[in-house]
Amino acid sequence: MDVVDQAQRLAEQDLERALNKNKANFVGQDVDFNHCLECGIEIPKARRDAIHSCKHCVDCQERLERQAKHYRKP
Ligand SMILES: [Zn+2]
Repeated sequence: MDVVDQAQRLAEQDLERALNKNKANFVGQDVDFNHCLECGIEIPKARRDAIHSCKHCVDCQERLERQAKHYRKP
């Protein structure tokens, strides 16, 4: 693989990540979304089935819950 190929591949990965994140934000109103609204990764079907209208992956959900607790301090 030469340097140009490598650079192009990296650019494509960046673009794909950006698109995934955009898509996740774009479909935020849809009950059928299957990507995390925070990081854009795909949420496993098992998780989506277990938690109705789940919007975040496990990692982001835990982080958000920690933050929520933090901010709820009296
Ligand atoms: Zn996430």
